[in-house]
Amino acid sequence: MKLHCPHCGPRSVEEFRHGEIPRVPDHLTDPAQRDLDRVWNRTNPQGPTTEAWFHEQGCHRWFHHERDTS
Ligand SMILES: [Zn+2]
Repeated sequence: MKLHCPHCGPRSVEEFRHGEIPRVPDHLTDPAQRDLDRVWNRTNPQGPTTEAWFHEQGCHRWFHHERDTS
């Protein structure tokens, strides 16, 4: 599978790391609770989602990528 890096072009997906962009609820005003939520709690969405990808074996840059997880 190929993934298009905006800086390097199409590259093997094995060159990248990725993660969900955390959406922390506005009602969490306690900084410790917000950090805990941001690091450990994932929504694991089904359908279109935006993720942060890091080109670890290439340009060492982050970019956002939309993908359908279903
Ligand atoms: Zn790259």
